Amino acid sequence: MAHHYVARALACLLVGSTCALGAVAQPTSAFDALLAEHSQAYSKSSSDRDAILERLKALEPSFTPEQNEKYQLAIANSLGDQGKHVERVALVESFIGQVKAPAGRVSFLYELIQGNTALGRYENALQAMNESILLLPGLQKASQKVVALQGALNLLTSLRAYDEALDLAERMYALRGDAVGSYAACAGLANKVETNYMRGNSALARSLVPNAISACEAFKNQFLTLIVKTHAAIDLIDSGNLATGITTSLALLQEYAVLNKDSEYLTLLQEALARAYLATYNFDRAEQYGFQAYERAQKDHVLILQEKTSQTMAAIKRAQGQLSAAIDYYDINLTLKDKVLDDQLHKNLAYQRVKFDTRDKANQMALLEQKNKNLSTEKALQQNKYQNLILLMTLILVVLAILGAWLFNTLRLKNTFRLSAQIDGLTQVSNRAHFTASAQHAFKDMARNVSLVLFDMDLFKKINDTYGHAAGDWVLKTVCITVKAQLQKAELLGRLGGEEFAICLPNFPEMEAELFAERCRTAIAAIDTNPSGFAFSITASFGISTRSAGQSTSFEDTLVEADKALYLSKNEGRNRVTVYQRSIA
Ligand code: GH3
Ligand code: MG
Ligand code: MG
Repeated sequence: MAHHYVARALACLLVGSTCALGAVAQPTSAFDALLAEHSQAYSKSSSDRDAILERLKALEPSFTPEQNEKYQLAIANSLGDQGKHVERVALVESFIGQVKAPAGRVSFLYELIQGNTALGRYENALQAMNESILLLPGLQKASQKVVALQGALNLLTSLRAYDEALDLAERMYALRGDAVGSYAACAGLANKVETNYMRGNSALARSLVPNAISACEAFKNQFLTLIVKTHAAIDLIDSGNLATGITTSLALLQEYAVLNKDSEYLTLLQEALARAYLATYNFDRAEQYGFQAYERAQKDHVLILQEKTSQTMAAIKRAQGQLSAAIDYYDINLTLKDKVLDDQLHKNLAYQRVKFDTRDKANQMALLEQKNKNLSTEKALQQNKYQNLILLMTLILVVLAILGAWLFNTLRLKNTFRLSAQIDGLTQVSNRAHFTASAQHAFKDMARNVSLVLFDMDLFKKINDTYGHAAGDWVLKTVCITVKAQLQKAELLGRLGGEEFAICLPNFPEMEAELFAERCRTAIAAIDTNPSGFAFSITASFGISTRSAGQSTSFEDTLVEADKALYLSKNEGRNRVTVYQRSIA
């Protein structure tokens, strides 16, 4: 089963505050008296209620806006009782625009929820429910809040959203306050009982029944008390306590006869009673109550009750052996089951859609706020990003600088290594290997003269011995600096070893080489040795050999020749230049 049953019991509370106070209310005007009479008229037939409305209508010319609101609401309520939901919804929709106060609006929204639910317009019902829930904070009285919550609860249970419905029942119950016999306590507990039964949580529902009954009795609401008792009686039958269930149910039937002959709860109770009699093989009684329930359900157009009662009737007919009648009921039942499933599908779809929609709307403010937050966060992030970028760029620059420095150093080192492989450490002139390679290169071009000038320091050992090795070193360095000063770019000085040096002079014929050597010799002899810390004279002996253009003499051979010439210079007294003469060879 799944329908909103508590709903009808609430009608009285919706129409006006007079009703909430029930019998103790003292109507102050003809309007109030008639309205109270209308809203308490559960036991009266709908024609009786219509008659009361007619009498109210007669007062219409003198209606205050407030009275008109209550009157319209009473009409909508009556239309609902008569199953005229299209008219009920149309009336509310045309009037609700004039209703500004939240308390008034929730009452009309309640009618809208009920009407649209009955018509299967679940989305509209859910929209009305959402507005109703949003109005909750603006409601003054707990009874007004109960109305808003009840409307939502009815719809949610109808949609089988039992968890959400139970949340609302809990909220409703929380409104009860300290006073004994509050509406919120009765309605809250009654809803908790009903929703838990519907949800299949019978044990919990059963445990709440005594409290619910006493709360509703304290509230002096017989009908809500009866509803709770009806649930408990049906539970007895459903759980197999057939004898007790039957006795209890029969007693409750008497109460319905007095309180409300039109209630859907009565249909439910009759259907359960039919099943109890069926289970105890009292087929006549079963058929009696089963058929009453079935007919009531047909009249009310409540799909879920139609489905339930047709199934019970089919079972009863089958037990009675009336197979063709049983088949007819089964056929009806199957069609109704289809409809129930279809209806449920629509409900689910609408629920999902509107739930999403509502969440969307309810969150719009929060979203906007969040958006603003996000924007400023984004700004901050961007600022951060910018700073990070600067940091990153700085880092890159630093890395690049380090890399560059490293590269520069490496290259310089590489160059240094390369140079150190070519240059003599002490004198900073070419070492023997590099000099040899360079000179060999110069000798390759046969078309030109190449002269080699070789020189060796005179009596150098003596310098070392007399003034120390450091002075000797100083001499070697200074001699090289002096000779280099005589060189042009293309001319290369190399240290062949110890205190022996060579100069390669490309494009130098023999005579020019001799002049060059003579200049070097003079320059060396002119070196002031005082900076070394000692005063002494230094000289060098020179040997020259020229490979003239067109000749094929190698560098090595020419070097040997120059060495021979140098030997001659030494032999002839040192500090002189000797040109190699082929004749002397
Ligand atoms: P000569 O005039 O016949 O060439 O006499 P010399 O003393 O120069 O000839 P010798 O070959 O006997 O001596 C060369 C000396 O040069 C021996 C060596 O100790 C010294 N010598 C060689 N290389 C270096 C050097 O790098 N630094 C210093 N201070 N002395 C060196
Ligand atoms: Mg020497
Ligand atoms: Mg020597």
